[in-house]
This record gives sequence, C-alpha cells and structure tokens, in this order.
Amino acid sequence: MRTVGLAAVCLAFVAGCTAVAPEPTPGERAKNVILFVGDGMGIATVTAARIFDGQSHGRSGEENSLSFEHFPNVALSKTYSFDAQVSESAATMTAMMSGVKTRSVAIGLDSKMRPGDCESVAGSTVATLLEQAETRGLATGVVTTTRVTHATPAATYAHSPHRNWEFDGMVPKEARKCMDIARQLVEFKRGDGIDVVLGGGQALFLPTGAGGVRRDGRDLLSRWQRRYPDGRVVGTASELEAAMTEGVTRIFGLFNADHLQFEHDRVVNQADEPSLATMTADAIRVLARDPDGFFLVVEAGRIDHAHHFGNAYRALGEAVQLSEAVGLAVQLTSVEDTLILVTADHSHTLTIAGIGYPTRGNPILGLADERGKLVPDGAGRPFTTLSYANGPGAHAASDTQPAGAKHFPHEPTSFTDQATARADLTRVDTTGPDYLQEAGVPLTLETHAGEDVPVYARGPGASQAHGVIEQNEIYHIMRRAFGW
Ligand SMILES: [Zn+2]
Repeated sequence: MRTVGLAAVCLAFVAGCTAVAPEPTPGERAKNVILFVGDGMGIATVTAARIFDGQSHGRSGEENSLSFEHFPNVALSKTYSFDAQVSESAATMTAMMSGVKTRSVAIGLDSKMRPGDCESVAGSTVATLLEQAETRGLATGVVTTTRVTHATPAATYAHSPHRNWEFDGMVPKEARKCMDIARQLVEFKRGDGIDVVLGGGQALFLPTGAGGVRRDGRDLLSRWQRRYPDGRVVGTASELEAAMTEGVTRIFGLFNADHLQFEHDRVVNQADEPSLATMTADAIRVLARDPDGFFLVVEAGRIDHAHHFGNAYRALGEAVQLSEAVGLAVQLTSVEDTLILVTADHSHTLTIAGIGYPTRGNPILGLADERGKLVPDGAGRPFTTLSYANGPGAHAASDTQPAGAKHFPHEPTSFTDQATARADLTRVDTTGPDYLQEAGVPLTLETHAGEDVPVYARGPGASQAHGVIEQNEIYHIMRRAFGW
C-alpha cells in the first residue's frame, strides 16, 4: 500500500521546502528481519558519530544524519537485566533474541539459570529467534566484528551459563557436560543450520598446533565443511569476494584469529579483512536467495571495545561503519517486506560537554571552545568536548588525590597545577586516533552505562517501535513482524 503524505505535497507545491517524499507505508508482515546491534552505542555515541561523520566530509557535522536516523520509528529501550542495573551484552542480547530479561553472563538462558552452573542449563533454556527462524525454514545469518563466539553473536544461537565459555579451554572441568560456544555454533541443530556466519575468532575453532587454542583436538572448520559440503569456508576478504562471485548459498567466514581489527586499523594496515558494511551486504545477498525469507543479526561489536579503551576516535569510527552497513541493507532490501531494527545492547559513559558553548562545527574530538577561544577549566587549562565518566583516560590516581572526595553542596575550590592534576592539553592533538579522552574515575577499562538506548525501525512492524520499552520487547516486535 502506498501513501501520498504531506511531505510529497510539500515537495510539489511549497517553494524552498526541503522535505523528502515519504516512504511507502509497509504492511505489518515482514518476510525478512534484520537486527543491527551497535554494541555499546548509547545516544551520546550516536550524536558524536553523526558529527564525526559529517566533519569527515568537510561539513560542520551537527546537521548530518547517520543512515538509520532517517528511519521513521524510534523507541527507547530499557537495558537493565534481571539482576543488573547496568547490564552487559550476554543478558541484554538474550533479552532481544529470546524475549526474557535474564542474569548477567547468561547466553540463551532465562533467569532460572545459575551463572557458571552447567546443571542449571536444562531448566532455563529459551529458544532464540534465530533458532525459531531455522525451524520454520527461513535462511539465517550472523555477522559481527568480534569473535563469532562473543556474547552478542553467541546469544543468537547458543545456550551457555557463562559468556566466557567460548571454546573448550574456557569451560571449567566440572562443567565439561556443557558444550563450548564455538562447538554449539558448528553443531547447531535447528533447520538446515545457520546459512551465513561472518566475523572473527578463528583460533577458537582450531586445535593447538594448527593455529588454534582448542585443547580437544577438534578442527571445527573441517567439521563444518564436512557437514555442509556445498558451503564455503573463507578466511580473508579476498576469499569472501571470490566466493560471492560464485553464488554460494552457505558461507562460514572467520577473518581474524581474534576479533576483527577496528575499522580505523583495518584501513591503515590494509588488512585482508572485510569491513562490517561488506560483510552485511554479502550476507544479505546470500540470504535473499531463499524465497522463504531470512533473519539476519549484524553486530558492530567493537564500538564497545574502543569505549572500554577510552578511545572515542575508534568508537566513533565503528559507529560510522555501522551506519554504512545499515545504509547498504536499506539499498539491498525493500521497505515493503523487510523490517530493519537498529539498536544497542547497552550504553557507555561517553559524554558531550561544554560551557559557553562549543561552537557549531568545532571538531567533535577537539577542545571545547567558545567563539573560537578555548574554554578554561578551574585551573586555566582547556578540556575536550568528549570525555568519559571513568576509564583509562583519567589523569589522577585516586589514592594520590591531595584532597578528599568532594561533596554536594558545592563549595568554591581553588584548583592547583600539580603532578596529579589534569594534563595541559593546550598543544595536544586530541583529534588524533590514539588520544584517550579524559575520564573522571580512574579505571583500567571504561565501563558500560545504564541509561536507555535508542531503537530505530523501518519496514513492516516498525510502527511497534515507539515509546519507552523494555529491551525484551524487541524480540516480540520482530516475532510479531514475522507473524508468529
Ligand atoms: Zn562491553
């Protein structure tokens, strides 16, 4: 059904009107569903990435939109889990994939599970949407920039009482009855198996002595190939490209022993690894050959990692790459039959600050300015627009702080210029790729954050994405869109 909305009328009759024609209103039933997860992509990350992307194209940046910001429907997702106020990827992805809030570190298990207890798996296993799609004869795919056994992708196909049990060497002796996550992927039993798996983590599928870390001697890549003789195992971007020209219908691609490189490093190092956008487009091309439809999960998994390292440059680069991947998915599918959701599993403590305030077009990774002049802190030193609430970018070691903790109400403080105080950033290039943004609380790794994350939706069933929702509602939105 097509609609002629106000925006189209506006285009035709109103001089100077810049609105674009509306997309056709889709039905409520989806043939295909694609879930994009920006791991750790909170709203501050989206805003900063949008500016970063715009500025990298020579514009002031603030007016730029990432591809998914054009989607007509938006909701806010509450990311707390069964037992955590600030959650992590295993529990949050299980919420999105299986419809239940669960405990931290649980993969595909409900809250009856006990973390690290193999015996608790039997009574707490919940079917994932990907398993249901396979059982119903759809094509399925999992794409990620992390190891394909990492928490977010694992929650699409595995059931494990600990997210760390990625290969046999990580499963404790007393839990050997529990299959490690890599093996669960290769021995996946629903339907005809997962059709497309693209990401990192090759070492977890190979035995020690053969470039891997497995202690059970299993070569899971050979086993996968024996199980799917018509499928293709690839290990580089070039091999992926070659396989695509041959029209494969099943592909297993692991392009790094560990996580894939950050997009920035992939380009600088000219690594033979595909970008997230390439993997996404290839996955859609393969899956779309199934006339029954497909379910695809794509994770930009390293937004989270760069944030943990306190490095906004790489985090924003990963988020921009996610935007490119979503843009390709929009081009390669139809709004009439494909629901696309873009969301995050949880946020990070990145903040966009300034007083005075940072001028429009000021570099998002730069020092906060006011009409071109740097804004001083209490000791006269400049600071960056982006910073973290905690993490490795903190300058002061908490145990050497000269003064005690400060308490509300605020009393005027005189700031000093001593060794433990902030660095003088006047001549530091804070826009460089390796600069670590300053942080409040000194921590080896910056942490997740607990506020709501956005959900952007387009296609059949997208209208259900509105208001403030529980994260596990995302599962039900996708399931209803399929008509199940
Ligand atoms: Zn994380």
